[in-house]
Amino acid sequence: MKLKFLLLALSVSFCSVSCQDNMPATQKSKENLASQEKAEKTDFKYWTWITADSNRPDSSYTSEFKKYKEYGLDAVLINTNTDPQLLDRLTPLATNEGLEVHAWIMAMNRPGDSIALQHPDWYAVSREGNSSFDTRPYVDYYQWLCPTREGSRDHVLSLVEGLAKVKGVTSVHLDYIRLPDIYLPIGLLPKYNLKQETELPEFDFCYCDVCVAEFEKIHHKNPRNFENPAIDMEWKQFRLNKIKEVVDDAYEIAHKNGKILTAAVFPYPEMADHMVRQRWDKWKIDAVLPMIYHGFYNEEIDWIGFATKQGVEDLESKNVELHTGVYLPDMDGAKLSKAIQLAKDNGAKGISFFDGQAFTPETLEAVKNSKK
Ligand SMILES: [Zn+2]
Repeated sequence: MKLKFLLLALSVSFCSVSCQDNMPATQKSKENLASQEKAEKTDFKYWTWITADSNRPDSSYTSEFKKYKEYGLDAVLINTNTDPQLLDRLTPLATNEGLEVHAWIMAMNRPGDSIALQHPDWYAVSREGNSSFDTRPYVDYYQWLCPTREGSRDHVLSLVEGLAKVKGVTSVHLDYIRLPDIYLPIGLLPKYNLKQETELPEFDFCYCDVCVAEFEKIHHKNPRNFENPAIDMEWKQFRLNKIKEVVDDAYEIAHKNGKILTAAVFPYPEMADHMVRQRWDKWKIDAVLPMIYHGFYNEEIDWIGFATKQGVEDLESKNVELHTGVYLPDMDGAKLSKAIQLAKDNGAKGISFFDGQAFTPETLEAVKNSKK
């Protein structure tokens, strides 16, 4: 895609000094503008996250994919609950309709993972000493693996590999690639009747024996003995690095199988670091899709532009694309049009919608109209 853009840019600049020499100035600038607009249209990608259901027939998927294509979408991120067979079945149905397919995996949060469940020691442990194997923070589907233990890391990476081997897939897409939320988005706190003004021990992970021993070996101090672990920078950095190591290994696996690596991440790097121990601007990755869900944070639509710009600037010197993620249930047609424009204006290479099921005729029209 980059090469195509470069060729287009070259042909535009070549024409500006040769074929257009005899044209009036206004016509020249109009044509240049038209070329620029064309380049913007081809380069700005539209994605949607969707969750697969193996019981649905092929024809049902084909009509869903046709609909996305008709309204201008370019890519689907499919959660098959890490089932390579189901992904293998659905991928040609989507690619036949002209959509890219990305294999969406819940990486560190693995609720009901039948292999992991046989290894209770693989699960992340809170500062209170509870394992998310049986004590789940916030919600029943929070069952997080430790990013440090060999068994749990290898398991997650083997799932990545299984998806990376599926023919026709463009990327493996990591989701929940972090530790559990030490702070929930502010807009969600009332729902759980929670107040989080400091780092609370029941939401602070991973204090398992392996993490603590490895940290102690490097830094000669035990996080279980910290009076206020929130202010120990090495302890936070250790956990940021452990997540990064999983990502960097997943990158090698994806590329070895001819795929790229993408991820759904928190809105911008400092915020991700603060809320969920995730510093995605340091990762080896091809593209990030920050979930800039303004409603979760009690923010207004313009915040989508702010957060997009933060991430784009942090990635400036790196070869990593940023595609803004937005939350459809908080959008009507007008808001979505505005969000798409904000993503474009602030340097995103595309926009992703959560999720496909939440599209309305009005928001689908907004997508289509934004491409005109
Ligand atoms: Zn651990």
